[in-house]
Amino acid sequence: MDRFNRVSAAPFSAGDHDHGACIAGAVRNAQRICARRGVRLTRLRQRVLELVWSSHAPVGAYDLLRRLSREHDGAAPPTVYRALDFLLEQGLVHRIESRNAFVGCADPAESHAGQFLICRDCGSAAEMHDRRVNQAINRGAAELGFFVEAKTVEVSGVCPACRAAEGVPSGAR
Ligand SMILES: [Zn+2]
Ligand SMILES: [Zn+2]
Ligand SMILES: [Zn+2]
Repeated sequence: MDRFNRVSAAPFSAGDHDHGACIAGAVRNAQRICARRGVRLTRLRQRVLELVWSSHAPVGAYDLLRRLSREHDGAAPPTVYRALDFLLEQGLVHRIESRNAFVGCADPAESHAGQFLICRDCGSAAEMHDRRVNQAINRGAAELGFFVEAKTVEVSGVCPACRAAEGVPSGAR
């Protein structure tokens, strides 16, 4: 499958994986992308990115603010929102509307509309990029005369780890 039809951009991670490596990889990606685009990944922006990446579950802006204000006295809400706007603009994080939260993008080199599978139990999210989903949305919207501005798709359900914990057989639900 080519890059655009590859479905799983960021699958669910196993609970015991080396998450430090995920964070380090995300920071390296961000540094490279920002350098190439000639935009500044300030220390605060990078710190907010690291905090968004503190797990694979979307993090709310309020949570980010709370964690950041523990580290920086001057971490006022506008500062954090500006940093988040920057990260969103650069495609380094995605906004998950249904949770009013943010999640790191594992594949931020090119801008894309992701499809997110969000676990209702542990809150972790996986990202898919399936061009066919975008095409179907474009087609349906065009038929209805609708102008599409954002195509983020959010799907709620149960992740593999939580399914295993619940003993739900695969294929059920
Ligand atoms: Zn991880
Ligand atoms: Zn993404
Ligand atoms: Zn889960």
